Amino acid sequence: MLSWRDGTGHRTQVSSLVPGDKRAIGRTGPCGRVRCRPAVRTPVARMNSSGSAQLPAVKMRNVIVIGSGCAGNTAAIYTARANLEPLVIEGLEAGGQLTLTTDVENFPGFPEGIMGPELVDRMKRQAQRFGATYRHGEVTRADLSSRPFKLWIGEEQLETRTLIVAAGASARWLGLESEQALIGHGVSSCATCDGFFFRGQPVTVVGGGDSAMEESLFLTKFATEVTVVHRREGFRASKIMLDRARHNDKIRWVTSATVEAVEDPAAKSVTSVKLRSTLDGKEWDHRTSALFLAIGHIPNTAIFRGQLDLDEQGYIVSHGGARTNIPGVFHAGDVQDRVYRQAITAAGAGCMAAIEAERLLEAEE
Ligand code: NAP
Repeated sequence: MLSWRDGTGHRTQVSSLVPGDKRAIGRTGPCGRVRCRPAVRTPVARMNSSGSAQLPAVKMRNVIVIGSGCAGNTAAIYTARANLEPLVIEGLEAGGQLTLTTDVENFPGFPEGIMGPELVDRMKRQAQRFGATYRHGEVTRADLSSRPFKLWIGEEQLETRTLIVAAGASARWLGLESEQALIGHGVSSCATCDGFFFRGQPVTVVGGGDSAMEESLFLTKFATEVTVVHRREGFRASKIMLDRARHNDKIRWVTSATVEAVEDPAAKSVTSVKLRSTLDGKEWDHRTSALFLAIGHIPNTAIFRGQLDLDEQGYIVSHGGARTNIPGVFHAGDVQDRVYRQAITAAGAGCMAAIEAERLLEAEE
């Protein structure tokens, strides 16, 4: 049975429509703060040569937001409140990095702190309250060569007048063959997700930034001992986080060392890591039951390569405010920000992108 989803995610069967059916004509958003503008242009059933209704290939949006972390959710809240009925494509890591965090103590408005997953869920519900639609899926292809922009989720094609790229950044891996073979078998990029499985065992964390400190501290709740391996003597982590970790007597430190291999891929579990001193090249085995990577992230911009201006590490190059090199495509959050990368700055960036999208659409009316 031919069918498609409307702006609210409900399926409509094409066979139950006749041309001109009100359900198949573009809905108009309720009058809001500024004025009414056409919201989602729901596809109109067309007649084919045999006179029967046909499923239109494409549905047009005013705004599509790629990503559902702080940046994407805030962009959705603002564009929804502007009656643009945004569609948020959640991505493979729905909710973004906050879903991998425990206590968030520095997001304004929560003096007692709030759990990361709860914060991001509240943002989502806030956006939905104003008409944002969320859907699972990953954008696998994009054509930004002309407007409306075209996106694909697998075989499904979407069109949008403006695009907010808030796809965030994914965990960086060391790239070792043995590491890759053991992901999910003791190698992890998320202590919050996997720490529990190593209760009463020694674990190892790689990295020298705030994530490494946070992950290590979290892991001390379960592990007998947490060894932080960092490739140099100096730490990138903020003083407060480093001090907290240093004051925890379950944490051991191995500096100026790199991980060369993870044992034992054949046994499908982590038994040790081979470490190498960057000072004298000496190698040794360090017994551990798990290896947690906390060595930063890679922006999720690969599908835009050759279309959006990206820097050498894949971050979107800003062309002022939330603008990219393509008018109508805006950036928000960790896809562009390599400096601040905080929940609150991502939320602010989502707000900026939304306002720019709204103003552009308004100017074009
Ligand atoms: P980060 O600050 O970029 O730190 C990455 C760490 O991994 C660095 O110490 C780096 O070493 C090391 N590293 C990178 N590539 C490596 C490799 N191939 N092999 C070995 N080590 C490698 O990343 P992050 O810690 O994920 O933090 C990202 C941002 O989020 C920061 O702004 C941070 O402040 C923020 N954050 C805040 C909190 C919090 O406030 N609660 C928690 C987590 C993160 P080098 O130092 O030698 O480059």
